[in-house]
Amino acid sequence: MPCKICKEKPVIQLPNSNIKLCKSCFVKYFERKALKTIRKYKLINRKEHIVAAVSGGKDSLSLLYLLNKLASKKIDFKLSALLIDEGIKGYRDETINTAKKFCKNNNIQLYITSYKEITGKSLDKIKNSFPDTIACSMCGVLRRYLLNKKSRELKADKLATGHNLDDEAQSIIMNQFKHNIALSARLGPITGVKRDRRFVPRIKPFYFLTEKEVAAYAFLNGFLDKFKECTYCTESNRFVIRDMLNNLEQRYPGTKHSIVASFMEILPLLKEKYKDLEIKSCKICKEPCSSEICNACKLMQKIK
Ligand code: SF4
Ligand code: ZN
Repeated sequence: MPCKICKEKPVIQLPNSNIKLCKSCFVKYFERKALKTIRKYKLINRKEHIVAAVSGGKDSLSLLYLLNKLASKKIDFKLSALLIDEGIKGYRDETINTAKKFCKNNNIQLYITSYKEITGKSLDKIKNSFPDTIACSMCGVLRRYLLNKKSRELKADKLATGHNLDDEAQSIIMNQFKHNIALSARLGPITGVKRDRRFVPRIKPFYFLTEKEVAAYAFLNGFLDKFKECTYCTESNRFVIRDMLNNLEQRYPGTKHSIVASFMEILPLLKEKYKDLEIKSCKICKEPCSSEICNACKLMQKIK
């Protein structure tokens, strides 16, 4: 079957449908879908400073590429990139070079910060000191902390991430399995329950695009060959959920879409329910948190 739109040779079949598209029609479809999400949920407004979280992997390069295209053609906003170097040998050191090259070629200001800067150690060293702790749980705490702190220091209006529909379905199910619904209230195409100047809202332009579609977009734009998975990814709870959802998707196509679509129906109710939840300031670093001392400071005390 040829491309549904122009009858050229197809390169991809869209998820949960019989529609096949050629390279140029798929790229247009992908960018239109991301732009629709940006407009519908007011993710980016004119003159805003958008900081994109980049890792150098396929999702973040696709995000940066798309945002850069939008910034120069469709919406008038300032774009910068922020990279967190966790300190993972054989993985992050390679993707940092890819991100640096990409930003240089596309004239995007890239800011780099690292776990070493705040803890004195790389993630590899931290993991060596705590072999029984899952690397991803320490990594997640430090990454969230640094992304928010640094993007706020850069005076970002929003922090854009490359999260796609598969990532969101995983987060929803993970929170459900851990009975952590308050955390789910913060999800959605734009995060947060209420505006607080200490939090930079996160936006997810790829929210309704699947992992497969992002991978195809990355591949068609020449980013995929640089893609590698992190050494520690199999340790994480997310990895198990990802596997489970992929199996379910194979057996029951449309599962991930259904999870996210049902979630979007209840999200306004969740945001309403948790809107009065108090946000405190960490006694040590003054960053926003839900207890007296934030998780990052607790972890840093342990590390130091
Ligand atoms: Fe960090 Fe885990 Fe992601 Fe690796 S897979 S970068 S350890 S969160
Ligand atoms: Zn703190």
